[in-house]
Amino acid sequence: MANPLFDALFSPLKDRSTAFLVLPDGAEVSGAAFHSLICRFAIALRGLGVMPGDRVMAQVAKSPEALALYGAATALGAVFVPLNPAYTDLEVTYFLGDAAPRLLICDGSRRAGLQGAVPPSVGMQTLNADGTGSLTDMAKGQSDDFPPVARDADDLAALLYTSGTTGRSKGAMLTQGNLLSNAEVLARFWQFTAQDVLLHALPIFHTHGLFVATNVALISGAAMIFLPGFDAPAVLHHLPRATTMMGVPTFYTRLLDAPGFDSAAAAHVRLFISGSAPLLAETHRAFEARAGQRILERYGMTETNMNTSNPYLGDRRAGTVGFALPGVDIKITDSGSEIAQGQVGMIEVRGPNVFNGYWNLPDKTREDLRADGFFITGDLGMFDADGYLHIVGRQKDLIISGGFNIYPKEVELLLDAVPGVLESAVIGLPHPDFGEAVFAVLTARPGVVLDTGLVLTALHAPLARYKHPKAAVVVADLPRNAMGKVQKNVLREAYGGWFASPVTDPSRPE
Ligand code: AMP
Repeated sequence: MANPLFDALFSPLKDRSTAFLVLPDGAEVSGAAFHSLICRFAIALRGLGVMPGDRVMAQVAKSPEALALYGAATALGAVFVPLNPAYTDLEVTYFLGDAAPRLLICDGSRRAGLQGAVPPSVGMQTLNADGTGSLTDMAKGQSDDFPPVARDADDLAALLYTSGTTGRSKGAMLTQGNLLSNAEVLARFWQFTAQDVLLHALPIFHTHGLFVATNVALISGAAMIFLPGFDAPAVLHHLPRATTMMGVPTFYTRLLDAPGFDSAAAAHVRLFISGSAPLLAETHRAFEARAGQRILERYGMTETNMNTSNPYLGDRRAGTVGFALPGVDIKITDSGSEIAQGQVGMIEVRGPNVFNGYWNLPDKTREDLRADGFFITGDLGMFDADGYLHIVGRQKDLIISGGFNIYPKEVELLLDAVPGVLESAVIGLPHPDFGEAVFAVLTARPGVVLDTGLVLTALHAPLARYKHPKAAVVVADLPRNAMGKVQKNVLREAYGGWFASPVTDPSRPE
């Protein structure tokens, strides 16, 4: 009987004597050894009562064993629920209540703290960063063979909580078919083969590292250099063996800052891919100048898997996320109606990649997922004359000041181009007169002391007056979440009272 996702991704490992994972010290885990690990874990999970459809929640460090858990849950027809290890006990308590898993697997160091939060009906086992733990002990000595449980493409494979830069995290229900269709499309589109070696330094609790990177490598028979996180010297050490790398924009800026990163260091890599957050056009250009390669930027989200990609063979354009992937429909809408090319509106997406809805949130699902299958992404964008999609911001980022709409990205692009400015984040803050006022948070290039007044003056010529930030501050770093996304909610909170009272302090530029 068939289990489409397991059959396509994990079953082929069984007969593979060559490396599937290359570990930080250069040791290799063959496909067959990894397949055995999956089977032993699946048997252990079944022994703990995990049935098809049950949620298996894992808050564990990145390791081969942690990845094997994903395979084991898939083999059992269970729903895999990976969580960011950075979540506190209190946050995990929320996820436990929401997902109602059969089992929580956590790091041994978290066991005592989480014990009180785990209801009696939920089992608890440990898996540590070094692969040891109570679950590993139970898996020891089990058979190397486990026939996967029959599943349908419409059955749930994973519940992935949105990384949530605003509001509460929601569980996105992803089916086997969602994951499989996207893996097939991406592997073909980016020309992955069994000869590829993917440098994997992403976390595996998020769609980028778990599904985009891992599923694409698995379905194409590629190997992965499996690093616990992004460490520039380690990445430089392993790059000569890699043929591809996937990363968030921060990986690329850090590589550019790393001594020794040049075209020779990147020579063996055929494809660098970026996503999860906007890649600055400047980073794109600097990377090409240094490494002699154009980064391929793509766009997706937890709920939809990947939607667009710059072309593999054609022109990879900085500041754009390329074209709709094969099988994916994208339209730009205003109040639900499609609008003309060149206009900014809501990005809506439909395709086999789009999720089934939010776990336990039927009203929210109906709000965001239309009856005709289009998902309202919350991202604002436009298609340019050549058909490339540009992301302009999130709907929640949209600033309405004195009745006028301002897209932060437009202002950020201009601020980023001002000499001395490294990066910017533009937000709307409550304002007694305008409702919201535009506010800029800047970081400076090394060694530069920014004069915010001069920076803002540089916007006068290119930008309509209503879009001008009414004030700006300089900070050391912009707050980012684990995937490198700027947390504008944190900035809105920190500076929320800025315009609350009339500005009398002359050091505050008006
Ligand atoms: P997540 O669900 O954590 O993957 O976050 C998805 C969100 O990240 C999208 O809705 C976009 O707002 C943003 N995002 C992903 N890829 C890109 C990209 N290439 N450029 C700009 N924003 C992106």
